[in-house]
Amino acid sequence: MSDIVKTFQSGLADGKLLIQSCNACKNKMLYPRHRCTKCHANDLGWVEASGKGTLHSYTVVRAIPPAGFEGELPYGLGIVKLEEGVQLMARLKPGASGDWSQYACDAAVAFARPSPGPGDDRAVAWFKLA
Ligand SMILES: [Zn+2]
Repeated sequence: MSDIVKTFQSGLADGKLLIQSCNACKNKMLYPRHRCTKCHANDLGWVEASGKGTLHSYTVVRAIPPAGFEGELPYGLGIVKLEEGVQLMARLKPGASGDWSQYACDAAVAFARPSPGPGDDRAVAWFKLA
C-alpha cells in the first residue's frame, strides 16, 4: 500500500475523512495522488473534509463480492460527492429497516465515522443519510 493511501486510511482509523489539498493552489483531490490535478505541483497536504455530501449513485451488492467481502453480503456501496467538490466510493450504512431502501440519488449523506473492525485494514469510508 502506498504512503498516500496509508495517510487516507490512518485518517479513517482516527475517525477523520481526509482529502488531499494542494499547498500551491488549494485544489482539493480524492483519490490520493502524487501531483496536483490542477497545477501539477507535488507539494500536497491533507485537510479534514466536512463529511457532508450528496449521494451521486449507489447499489446494493447481494452476490459475487470481491475477495475479502464475502462475509458482508448484502452491503451498500455509493458514490458520494463531498461539498469540497471531490467524490469517493463509500460504504453505506443500512437504515433503521436494516436495508438501503431509504437511499436515493441526490440524497444528502454524512460521513459516519465508524470504528474499523479488528484486522480491518481496508481504506473504506462509511456514510449514512444526513
Ligand atoms: Zn495545485
